[in-house]
Amino acid sequence: MALVRLPALIDCHVHLRDPGFPHKETFLSGTQAALAGGITTVLDMPNTQPPVTRPEILAEKARRATEQAVCHVGLFYGAAQDGSTPDVSAARLACGLKIYVNETFTTLRISELPALVRHFAAWPGPGPIAVHAEGIALAACLALAGYYEQRLHVCHVARQADIGLIRRAKARGAAVTCEVTPHHLWLTEEDAARLGPLGQMRPALGTANDRAALWENLDVIDCFATDHAPHSLEEKRSDNPPPGVPGLETMLPLLLTAVHEGRLTLSQVVERLHFNPARIFRVPTDAETFVEVDSEARRTIEAATLFTRCGWTPFAGMTTRGVVRRVVLEGRLVFADGQVLARPGSGRVLFTDALSLRKEV
Ligand SMILES: [Zn+2]
Repeated sequence: MALVRLPALIDCHVHLRDPGFPHKETFLSGTQAALAGGITTVLDMPNTQPPVTRPEILAEKARRATEQAVCHVGLFYGAAQDGSTPDVSAARLACGLKIYVNETFTTLRISELPALVRHFAAWPGPGPIAVHAEGIALAACLALAGYYEQRLHVCHVARQADIGLIRRAKARGAAVTCEVTPHHLWLTEEDAARLGPLGQMRPALGTANDRAALWENLDVIDCFATDHAPHSLEEKRSDNPPPGVPGLETMLPLLLTAVHEGRLTLSQVVERLHFNPARIFRVPTDAETFVEVDSEARRTIEAATLFTRCGWTPFAGMTTRGVVRRVVLEGRLVFADGQVLARPGSGRVLFTDALSLRKEV
């Protein structure tokens, strides 16, 4: 056994589907999946039902997370279609603002340029503006972030052209950061053909050249993030399957496998799952929160052992090197050898102290 201790690990892009879609995931099942995957903080996206476009909706979502979560959770605002923006004190309750510029599984899409400009002009921070923006939309967001002096975080970069654009912007001093998902680092359009609807997500899987470009430009990629986006098998097998795949329980084993193969170093993993997301999204970390992995152990990914409610994974059948053994959250053992030990509600909802949601523990 080769036990390695990693610090608090942050997944800065998840969809825990709560409230609105409990058959896909809940704060409880999603945060259990996070601990099983060695993740101690998740940042949750706003395309739940109702969408998180106003402070009172964020407060209600925070209350639900406070009751259920077993790891720490931060919440994003979604950009409202009418261009309205939370004020400074309300904006502080969130880890950032999410803008959907390209089409995906949401009713939050901003497709008119004036509304997009209004959000870049008015978002008060302190969190960054996170965007789903590909191609021309990405170029527009980079320009607007510059004009309005906003920090921009580009979600799930998946294309050679897009990572090239981000490299140019960073070289010119732009305040831009970005993330990449394991599915775009491991899978291509050939896998999409093999997997059918289980390989459909946004951005769609790219070519072998796109995948190679992500690995070659790892130095400009700040974070690894899952874009954990579960849907039920029934929905995925329907005539109109929604885009999205789960990822919380497979990201760290895949990354540790890349470390084993010499394609990544452990410090590159820790930078992109700990230091960088903590800095970008102001996530507090502490020395009493850590993850122990057995870096030599082999395991084959199986849908049956997952905590995510959706019960499937596009990585089923892959053998990984590196198994999460124990997770300690603020000094408490919360996961050990396949068992979640934390009680529902024992995780914290970040940034929301002003809402006075704290419960008896
Ligand atoms: Zn997403």
